[in-house]
Amino acid sequence: MQPVSRREMLGSLGTLAVAGGWIGLTPDEVVAQESGGSGKALREYSLPPLGYAYDALEPHIDAQTMQLHHDKHHAGYARKLNKALKGLDAVRQKGGSGEFARIRTLTDALAFNGSGHVLHTVFWKNMKKHGGGQPTGSLARMLDRDFGSFDRFVKHYSKAAGTVQGSGWGILAWEPLSRRLLVFGAEKHQNLTMWGSVPLLVTDVWEHAYYLKYQNQRGKYVAAFWNVIDWDNVAERLSQAMRLTG
Ligand code: MN
Repeated sequence: MQPVSRREMLGSLGTLAVAGGWIGLTPDEVVAQESGGSGKALREYSLPPLGYAYDALEPHIDAQTMQLHHDKHHAGYARKLNKALKGLDAVRQKGGSGEFARIRTLTDALAFNGSGHVLHTVFWKNMKKHGGGQPTGSLARMLDRDFGSFDRFVKHYSKAAGTVQGSGWGILAWEPLSRRLLVFGAEKHQNLTMWGSVPLLVTDVWEHAYYLKYQNQRGKYVAAFWNVIDWDNVAERLSQAMRLTG
């Protein structure tokens, strides 16, 4: 593998705004950076801005759904993720066995709300006004390699997303151990996925994502989703994932 200098890494990732200013730092550098000032402040998760108007994805995804989904549902996952972390902090500080009985519930809340926060954060960026079409360049070639063709990928992904049992997500992910793309149908936010894989393209198939416009017709919503995808964002995420997990 061609070595990548820290300067090159920082330069190429600087515009992606995924993790603030820590990429390329050592663990000690990160700890030192965050221990300055008023001491060990809890690092809070927050709702990222949508990045476009609520009605930008009309007619495929309606404005009211986008507003409720981003401002209420996603905000709730970020809030409950912070709450779970604060709860775990309190348990460790108090240390009694009564307090430790809360570990199971808080750990479940961490996985559920944390995964929900991550996937929604990716989801908003995967879409744009006047999106759709097909990917080009290296992403297109990798989809061809791993799924046979773009059309076969679309059929595979649509079926996986459409048949998630209950609430969940269709997910195209980069899997670094085998260096290939995989499709998952995750249940809730955190189940039926594979450790280490990085979500590149995700489709929320919880009813809150489509029920106002499509009611029980999840398949129609998944079909419409192909018209709002920002393939440049998906390609950028693939390049970023490959650099960070190489
Ligand atoms: Mn959702």
